[in-house]
Amino acid sequence: MQTRIDPRFQDDPTVREAEEILRSCVHCGFCTATCPTYQLLGDELDGPRGRIYLIKEFLAGAPVTHSTLTHLDRCLTCRACETTCPSGVRYARLAEIGREHIEAEIGRPLGERLKRRALRAVIPHPRRFAALLRIGQACKPLLPKSLARKVPDRPSSSAWSVPQTSGMGRSMIALTGCVQGVVTPATHQALEAILARLDIRLQTAPEAGCCGALSLHLNAREEARDFMRRNIDAWWPLITAGAEAIVVSASGCGSMVKEYGEALRDDPGYAHKAARVAALARDPSEVLLAEDLDTLPLDAPEPLRIAFHAPCSLQHDQRLTGTVERLLQRAGYRLTAVPDSHLCCGSAGSYSLLQPIIAATLRDQKLAALNSGTPNVIATANIGCQMHLQSASPIPVRHWLELVADALPKVL
Ligand code: SF4
Ligand code: SF4
Repeated sequence: MQTRIDPRFQDDPTVREAEEILRSCVHCGFCTATCPTYQLLGDELDGPRGRIYLIKEFLAGAPVTHSTLTHLDRCLTCRACETTCPSGVRYARLAEIGREHIEAEIGRPLGERLKRRALRAVIPHPRRFAALLRIGQACKPLLPKSLARKVPDRPSSSAWSVPQTSGMGRSMIALTGCVQGVVTPATHQALEAILARLDIRLQTAPEAGCCGALSLHLNAREEARDFMRRNIDAWWPLITAGAEAIVVSASGCGSMVKEYGEALRDDPGYAHKAARVAALARDPSEVLLAEDLDTLPLDAPEPLRIAFHAPCSLQHDQRLTGTVERLLQRAGYRLTAVPDSHLCCGSAGSYSLLQPIIAATLRDQKLAALNSGTPNVIATANIGCQMHLQSASPIPVRHWLELVADALPKVL
């Protein structure tokens, strides 16, 4: 694609990066066919090619309006378009640069600014989030049904024993993060129980926390980089002591940690460490498939039928397709077919809170697809998707690690 950059952006390195991405797009439109917002809204400007065009025009000096920003805000950053694109266009990075510059140029109305600030002030901070959640749970009976369904129930205690590891030295680091640790602590407990059976000790660094993804999605780049630096500082002593991997059980956070190297590449104090952390980041399915699973006897307690919802962060960001499904089948579960499994469920980080109508429509479509094979349980790999789907699902939505942990022998 031919590009022209307005002279006022000439010295901006992010605009040079955007220009390079723009040039890689041949405007073929293949991506449009797999874009959930284009499918839903039917407007070229609510699809990847249209959004690329809007960013290109802005960087060339064309005036922008709030309608331009709205088309970019409606993008889920699900990256289905990147999976489809034959030219390898890094759409998500382009959209991030475009949003940041357009927001800086025209600003946002006060109400939107306050909402975004409130999300950043609560969600990445486990104590604040937990306090707010407790209030929500206490008031649940008084809330309107539509709102009450969005408040997750109190977590139940885990059913898995964690055997002592032999102390032979194998260890990995877990990111306990923010929302997942508060809403579904069972996910971490399941991971710990499974890895202990493989004689891998799971360590946590109390100073680590939010991966930074929420801030990044809300255009607070420096805040996101501060979260990343804090996590790197917290993990570094464990890494230098020999931890083999950083296991991230929420796939959205996993995608973010895998991008630390890129996000901090211009920070001389952290670039090297960030690249090392990114290289060590693993989804639990990668960790388990790299082990000798014959040492991990798995036998599903009931022949459950499971519909697996592959989060976009797993299939389009991390490009891990079929890994979780293989593990669930190996554990003895039966997987049901899920049509249009490449499409986003509408959760997409803070998207479901900022674009509730589109998010609810995509969720309902996703639930219809997931339930079409009459499963007993829906499994997924990301806390955001889990909460979003559960808010309207007639059947339980669980993290797949819990189902694998259920298949572990009860007594060693
Ligand atoms: S992003 Fe890729 S698929 Fe979409 S129009 Fe550009 S080259 Fe074609
Ligand atoms: S990231 Fe997802 S919603 Fe955004 S343009 Fe690409 S396919 Fe469409």
